[in-house]
Amino acid sequence: TYIVNDNCIACKYTDCVEVCPVDCFYEGENMLVIHPDECIDCGVCEPECPADAIRPDTDPEAEKWVEFNRKYSEAW
Ligand code: SF4
Repeated sequence: TYIVNDNCIACKYTDCVEVCPVDCFYEGENMLVIHPDECIDCGVCEPECPADAIRPDTDPEAEKWVEFNRKYSEAW
């Protein structure tokens, strides 16, 4: 799965949402999040993000964001 990190805060672009084939982006409190169970790991959103906020969860820095993304995407 891919996750969104805090580089997304205050980013006004939603290019990632447009390209996601399974619509698994959700609105968190002040940033977007990815539902980890809905993401099919296609990777197309990552290069679209101008804030460099989207990372595969295999990235060591991404690990702490997985639960955050789950929590806010399941709030919907
Ligand atoms: Fe959507 Fe693919 Fe990005 Fe997952 S990796 S959030 S399925 S565009």
